[in-house]
Parts: sequence; structure tokens; C-alpha cells
Amino acid sequence: MIFVTKPFHAVILQKRIRNQLALKLKSDLLEKHASLDGLTNLLNRRMFDFDLENRWAESQRLQANFSLIMFDIDHFKLYNDNYGHSAGDEVLVRVAKALMKTLQRKTDRVYRYGGEEFILIQFDTDLEQLRQTAELLRQCIYDLNITHDFSFHKRISISVGATLINAEQIQPIPYLLEITDQQLYKAKKQGRNCVSTITI
Ligand code: GH3
Ligand code: MG
Ligand code: MG
Repeated sequence: MIFVTKPFHAVILQKRIRNQLALKLKSDLLEKHASLDGLTNLLNRRMFDFDLENRWAESQRLQANFSLIMFDIDHFKLYNDNYGHSAGDEVLVRVAKALMKTLQRKTDRVYRYGGEEFILIQFDTDLEQLRQTAELLRQCIYDLNITHDFSFHKRISISVGATLINAEQIQPIPYLLEITDQQLYKAKKQGRNCVSTITI
């Protein structure tokens, strides 16, 4: 905020406004860097932790269903080992772009949860919708058709674990993440490039 006392000098006022705008731009940029992942430009883990807490509280207040979709690139270590780390980075960027393009609902936000793990928060879904979204994500990555000769599916794929949390559930957040992670593990065990869902 700029306080202007009369009489004022136009040139000085102009300078002060310019300084103020430059400061605002800088702080917006800092905020952006603090919430986005540098490689993929997706929202980062810090934002996920923040949003999850808020959205979970909101869904409890509104008595709305809530869901988490966690997914992980299959055999990514083998990809890096055989094609190189920068090729791996390129895959992460392409995967992130495909995810963003595929998600239509404005309320769906996708985050880079860890190295090659991503997570999505969905609000007010039912099991059918959840399955559809999880399947859509799996398919969109498969459709990128990125060769991965060292994976069973011969191309880059993801495994997906999803949990629908009923509105009346009162569970701590780490439990919701743990349950979702178990579904992801199940999808890996079922052969990867597949989806596993649960309702709690
Ligand atoms: P799984 O199908 O069970 O998920 O096997 P995986 O090989 O994908 O899983 P693992 O946890 O063994 O390996 C994950 C790999 O992801 C290892 C790590 O080097 C790679 N990775 C994590 N973050 C990055 C990154 O930012 N860039 C690149 N290129 N690789 C990354
Ligand atoms: Mg993996
Ligand atoms: Mg992983």
C-alpha cells in the first residue's frame, strides 16, 4: 500500500508506484516457486500437504465424499538406468503435461507427491466417477506410447491406487494416505499399468 501526502511530486509518486509493482511481482514469483515443482511445474508436496488438510476439513464440514488417487510410474528405475537420468526427467515432464491436459474438472488438482509419484485430490465423487478418473489417468499415460523396453508393458505406464472416503468417515489424514498407498501397492502387485480402488 502507498500512502500519498499532499502536495505530492508526480515523478516521485511514479517512482514509488513502480517500486511497489516490482515488489509485488517479486513476491508473486516467490510464492509461485514455493508452491510449484521445478521440473514438472505441477503443484509440489508442500502444497499438497496444505491443500489436503484444508480440503479434508472442508469435505467434513460439507459432509461430502472425498477421494485420493495416488499413482506411480512403473519400473522407472529401470528406465533411468537404461535411457539415462535426463531422459527420465523428460518422461516426468511429459507425464505431468499429459495429466494436466487430461484432468477436466477445475476442482481436480494434481501434485508431484514424490520422485515419480503423483497424487490427486477429488471432491464429492462417487466410486464410479473415481474409477473413471483413475482409469482415464492410467490410459492417458499409456497412450503417450513412450518406449520402455525394460518394462513388462514395453512402454511407460503408471499404477494407480484410489480411495473413496465416505462423508461420515472421521479418520486422521495419515491413515487416508496409508490406505491409498496400499491400493497403489496392490495395483503394482496385480501386474502394474492398472487401477486398484477401495471405499472406506
Ligand atoms: P515400481 O514399478 O515398483 O514403481 O518400480 P520403480 O523402479 O519405478 O520404483 P523405484 O522406487 O525402485 O524407483 C524409482 C525411481 O524413480 C528411482 C529414481 O531414480 C527415479 N526418480 C525419482 N525422481 C526422479 C527425477 O526427478 N528424475 C529422474 N530422472 N528420475 C527420478
Ligand atoms: Mg515407480
Ligand atoms: Mg515410487
